[in-house]
Amino acid sequence: MSAAVMSETHPMTISIRSIVKSYGRYPALNGVSLEVQPGELLALLGPSGSGKTTLLRTIAGLEFPESGQVLFDGQDVTFAGASDRRVGFVFQQYALFKHMTVAKNVAFGLEVRKRQDRPAKADIAKRVDELLRLVELGEMGRRFPAQLSGGQRQRVALARALALDPSVLLLDEPFGALDAAVRKSLRRELRRIHDATGVTTIFVTHDQEEALELADRVAILNLGRIEQVGDPLEVSEHPASAFVAGFVGDGARFEGQVQGGVFRSGELAAPAPGAPDGAAQAFVRPYQFALAQGSDGFEVKVDRIVGHGPILRLEATAAGGRRLDAAFPREAGGELSGRPSIRLQVRSAHVFPV
Ligand code: ADP
Ligand code: MG
Repeated sequence: MSAAVMSETHPMTISIRSIVKSYGRYPALNGVSLEVQPGELLALLGPSGSGKTTLLRTIAGLEFPESGQVLFDGQDVTFAGASDRRVGFVFQQYALFKHMTVAKNVAFGLEVRKRQDRPAKADIAKRVDELLRLVELGEMGRRFPAQLSGGQRQRVALARALALDPSVLLLDEPFGALDAAVRKSLRRELRRIHDATGVTTIFVTHDQEEALELADRVAILNLGRIEQVGDPLEVSEHPASAFVAGFVGDGARFEGQVQGGVFRSGELAAPAPGAPDGAAQAFVRPYQFALAQGSDGFEVKVDRIVGHGPILRLEATAAGGRRLDAAFPREAGGELSGRPSIRLQVRSAHVFPV
């Protein structure tokens, strides 16, 4: 990695404190607090309308909150303009200049700097060349955006954001308009580029798989509030709320009652240690089901068994027409095959009051 590609600024800490931001009477952000560590890649995950873009724009200095603070390395930048924050921004929609070559697009932010801050022409050319190689578009500098694929255009947008040596990189659903295979490969690319530059990065997405695969930590936003912040394993294995349990990871949801540490929904019973008695909901991941012995458990109708690789997936229908997926090791195949119905039990579940 050459020195020119490495950030000249050290990785920044971002502290977001009790941010409230409303449009009209509706709070888009309703008391959001979040610490982003220096050099971290944090995914901001939430459904459409949860406030992701508003939070990102507030961090960028494109929106200003009614209350709360944004600090970069402890310095209050809440009301500083975007140009004073050294943020790099990549949007979902390709925002490249159509009439400029790829190289010109990447150089643009440096070339429009005031003379005293502008690098020499040769230095700009060198930096553009290095950034294009970093995003694996070393040969594409002379092309125009229209001559690139969607994925390549987003790489140019990334190189352009990095050209200004940002202290913070903000990406708002940058791969949202691309097809699944391209998204997947760009995910890996972004992770590699992040690790090479070390820039503190916030990546917005509504795609849980993207967030869980890419990020060091995931912050889950719902209705303008953060529900949980944790590493990918934590948020999928230990959801802090019913919303997180339902939004992150696969699974079936059952409504029922907890009594004495056991959740019941019809014939289904699941351990719920520590859960208070009363109306409750249980989220059961495919791997939390097991085959029941004898007349234990609850009966499901076998719809389909899908098997390739080490895991067999059972698609089944329980009483009341509820569809569920259960995952078993391949060795269970013998017990499953040719049976119109089987009995399952729940080994563990995520149980929350309703
Ligand atoms: P996300 O990016 O998670 O989809 P947004 O931050 O864009 O969510 O929006 C959060 C909420 O604020 C939504 O209900 C949206 O309709 C509203 N909103 C966002 N921008 C504006 C705006 N400029 N004017 C009015 N309402 C807005
Ligand atoms: Mg958005």
